[in-house]
Amino acid sequence: MQKNSKKINWLNTIFLIATPLVGVIGAIVLCSLGMVKWQTWAFFGVYVFLTALAITAGYHRLFAHKSYKAHPVVDFIMAMLGAACFEGSVLEWGTDHRNHHRFVDTEKDPYNINQGFWHAHIGWLIHLDTSKRDFSNVEDLSSSAILRFQHKYFKECAIFMGFILPMLIASLWGNALAGLIIVGALRVAFNHHSTFFINSLCHWSGKQTYTDEQTARDSWMTALVTMGEGFHNFHHQFPLDYRNGVRYFHYDPTKWLIYALSKLGLASDLRRISDYKILAFRLRVEENQLKKKHQQDTVFINQKVEPLKAHLTALIEKIAQLETELATLKAKKLDHVKGKYASYKRQLQAYLNTIKMVQKELNSSLINWRKLCA
Ligand SMILES: [Zn+2]
Ligand SMILES: [Zn+2]
Repeated sequence: MQKNSKKINWLNTIFLIATPLVGVIGAIVLCSLGMVKWQTWAFFGVYVFLTALAITAGYHRLFAHKSYKAHPVVDFIMAMLGAACFEGSVLEWGTDHRNHHRFVDTEKDPYNINQGFWHAHIGWLIHLDTSKRDFSNVEDLSSSAILRFQHKYFKECAIFMGFILPMLIASLWGNALAGLIIVGALRVAFNHHSTFFINSLCHWSGKQTYTDEQTARDSWMTALVTMGEGFHNFHHQFPLDYRNGVRYFHYDPTKWLIYALSKLGLASDLRRISDYKILAFRLRVEENQLKKKHQQDTVFINQKVEPLKAHLTALIEKIAQLETELATLKAKKLDHVKGKYASYKRQLQAYLNTIKMVQKELNSSLINWRKLCA
């Protein structure tokens, strides 16, 4: 585990100050001199999006959490585009992030929000002592040749992907300097603060939807600036799920990219927590909130909240059990011997009918629950 000291990490500090300064001032000067072509701005938009996705879909959900598996070509592209963000190698990023989840909100959490917004956002990097970094929690990642290569040659990969490649591509339309300043420095600053907001704002602003036992929050507004990572309360409760925005309408371009990759055969084994397990956690938090809100009204708690919550929990457990039994039945090798197939179909249909009935009961009980929560 890395240690934060009072000493200043000058390399990090100078880089974190220089990139936004050079990016913003350079862009203003170049624009005022009419030296930025529209193609460079379009390239900036595309590259900032792609490199940010390499952090969220690659560094975070693929490597740090293993929430899906990817084709080696995807592993390589994620590692290279992610390097362009100058956030350390996958192994460095992964060890810090796994410590963040394991020790969240404690002194061992590298970006502990309880040490203040500034510390969680950027302060921890200014005082980062990398010589003490312990990689024992990313041994599984070290077995990948791609990630070992990226770690060994990180500086070279980062400088090439972060500055040289943008300059070379922009030189195709005669705008190399603007490519270096805008798609290089300014973009890195955007990437940095988009990631930093996950560690600061996502533990600061929003709702505690699935767990009230730590500081992570859900907010569609922070999701907009963090490629969907703003549904951070969900993520801390279910870090293995490839989604952060669990509802279909939640803005989470990272989950859409992973889903699209799976449809193209470039990703597999996308992990999803069952809807009923997610609902059970949500109800537990809502029950705590109701009890806190109506703590003086014990009659309301004892006669309304607790019995309805117990009923909902029983229905959820019933559906989960039925679905497990149904999955076992479906997994059995179909016996096509005459006569048995018909009985199998009847069994299957009986399960589906029972699940539908319990679901109907669950939905109507949830309407009553929502009325209590209103
Ligand atoms: Zn977090
Ligand atoms: Zn995470």
